[in-house]
Formats: sequence, C-alpha cells, structure tokens
Amino acid sequence: MASIEMKNIVKRYGDGFPAVNDVSIDVGDGEFMILVGPSGCGKSTLLRMIVGLEDITDGDMVIGGKRVNDLAPRDRNLSMVFQNYALYPHLTVYENIAFPLRLAKGKFTEDEVTARVKRAAEMLELNEHLERKPANLSGGQRQRVAMGRAIVRDADAFLFDEPLSNLDAKLRGQMRTEISRMQRRLGTTTIYVTHDQTEAMTLGDRVAVLKKGVLQQCASPRELYEQPVNLFVAGFIGSPPMNFLPARVEEGKLVLPFCEVPYGPEFAAKVKGKDLVIVGIRPEYFKDSKVNPPGDNSIGFEATVDVTEWLGNEQYAYIPFESDPSVQSKLDELERDLDGEGMRTQMVVNLDARSRILEGDHTA
Ligand code: ATP
Repeated sequence: MASIEMKNIVKRYGDGFPAVNDVSIDVGDGEFMILVGPSGCGKSTLLRMIVGLEDITDGDMVIGGKRVNDLAPRDRNLSMVFQNYALYPHLTVYENIAFPLRLAKGKFTEDEVTARVKRAAEMLELNEHLERKPANLSGGQRQRVAMGRAIVRDADAFLFDEPLSNLDAKLRGQMRTEISRMQRRLGTTTIYVTHDQTEAMTLGDRVAVLKKGVLQQCASPRELYEQPVNLFVAGFIGSPPMNFLPARVEEGKLVLPFCEVPYGPEFAAKVKGKDLVIVGIRPEYFKDSKVNPPGDNSIGFEATVDVTEWLGNEQYAYIPFESDPSVQSKLDELERDLDGEGMRTQMVVNLDARSRILEGDHTA
C-alpha cells in the first residue's frame, strides 16, 4: 500500500485553458479519497495522470514516496476500475479475474492463481459464475468482475473512475456498500472519481471538490457540509441543495425576502462595509410550525408554497421569491462563485413528512 501525493499538478491539452490547474492533494496510506465535481471539472484527467494514462504538464506525482511522472502505467502497481468495466468478452469470469496475475509472467503458480481468484470471487459473491462469459452476466455482476480483477493482486492503490454510473439506482446503492466494505477490509489506498455527491459523502474518508480544474476544498464529508469554504462547495454538496437568499445588511439585522434576522457582534465584523450578502440556509433548517412547535431561537414567516414533493419520510416544499431589481443588479458580483448558475429564484424547504402544507398554502 502507498500514499499518493499530487503536488501542484497541471494538465494542459494544447494551448487551451488547463483541464487541471495547480492541484495539490495528499492521499494517506489506506485512505479512501473521493474526487468530485461537475462534468468537465478535470477529475478523470487527474485520475488518469495518477495511473499514468495521461502525461503530466507540470507538477510532481509521488506514489509511496517515489516520483512517478516518467514511470509507465505498468510500473506504478496501481489497479484501475473503469466506468465501462473493460472486461475481455472471450474470457470467462475466472480468466478475467486471473488476467493481471497471468500478466506478471511466472510470478504466481497455478495454485496461487486459483487461490487468489477464489478469494476475490468469494468476497464479491461471484463463485457461482466463474465459468460464465461477461455477455451472460448482469450489469452488477460485470461490475463485480471488474472489481475482482482490481483486488486479485496486491496493488498499492485502487483507482475507480465512476464505476457505478451504468447501474440502476438500487444496484448502485448495494454496490456502494460493497465497495466501502471491501475497501475497509483490505485497507488499500483508494481514489474514487464520481459526480454523484451521495457516493462522495458516503464513501470517502475525505472528499476533494473540483471546479474547472481547480481544487475548491478537500475535507471530510462532515466538514464539507458544515463548513464549506465558498458558495460553490456550499451549493454542490447537499441534496436538496442549500438555499441562497439575497439579504440587505442593516444595523443589527439582515433583511431576507421572507423575514428579518438579527445578528450579534461576531457577525457584524463579517458584514462590515457591505450592504448586501448572500445567505445560505440548508433546507432542513425550516420547519412547519404546526407540526414542530418553534423553539426560542426560531424566526417565523409566511410564504406561498408553489410545489410540494412528498417522499414518505420527508417532504420538500418549493417557495418562489423575488428580490427587488436594485438588489438583483448588485448580486451579479457576489454570484461569481455560483458558477454562472445565477441566483435562484425559489427556495426549497425540507419538512417533516407529517406536515400538511399543500401547494398554494400561505404558511411555512
Ligand atoms: P466527466 O464527469 O464529464 O467525465 P471530468 O470532470 O472527468 O468530466 P475530464 O474528462 O477530466 O472531466 O475533462 C476535463 C477537461 O479537459 C474538459 O474540459 C475536457 O473537455 C478536457 N479534455 C479531456 N480530455 C481531453 C483531450 N484528450 N483533449 C482535449 N481536451 C480534453
């Protein structure tokens, strides 16, 4: 096993904008690191540079204390699992899993190959399918074979590139748990690329959030959720997403579209000299006062609900809001971090499933 250090990594394709721009991330020995971000943010490019499938324009890639920029992929001792599984269709499941062992010519006896394939197959519940060809397997089973091939030899690290994106939602959930269990059991350093923030939050010891090739924040899931460093991370992590509301700064209070919120001296220092800020409020901080009696620190307001979605265990209510045009024009500058998404014109509140708020209701 090994640590992986990315030091000021840059990737430029031609003369264009760098696909990866000065990214530094240290992945500890045995750590499960997630690379997450919207399409085109450079996460696959970064992974491909780690494994050696892409040249590094600038910076140092260090694996197990050794600089590997100029090492061929086969000399890096990493196992990669691809989105499309990349199985050999003419080989059985057994031979697909055994393939990396056979590549290391003469290193493993036939008995060792059998023992290793059986162990991997057992861990992934593939024993019954060892004689089948990939065409006769389900998507989830193919995914398991691809993982079997990755774990069958003693790689220094596992690299996953969106391994679950071809599976349906239920299977994705199951495989997520299996990957997590397998990684903990083997304790192998793992880097996992996804654009799915549920995968990112549930699998990773730490999560690195990328936007347009630039690292925004690298932290534990809890820290990302509770202490995002900018509006982009705040809006990207969390489902339904955090609400962003424009607020006018007045003496001792913020004036939001629905209510006024008093603030103390500590916050006063933060908003000093500003007449407008964007306030982020997670949907779960809202409650239906008829179901959950308000506490001492709550602030009540009334609003018209546009759409509701009942999910059984919770309920989302969408509430449109308007900000006056003078506020809107000043928001442009503050919005840069929102990645051109623009200020939202509705907020979503995550209510108790017992709430009886209906579309068109004037309460929240
Ligand atoms: P996705 O989730 O859609 O796979 P990603 O975050 O993995 O996206 P990359 O595939 O790493 O993004 O691409 C990052 C940027 O580099 C994109 O703007 C992409 O168009 C560009 N890019 C990727 N590969 C090449 C290439 N071979 N030649 C030129 N540009 C490329």
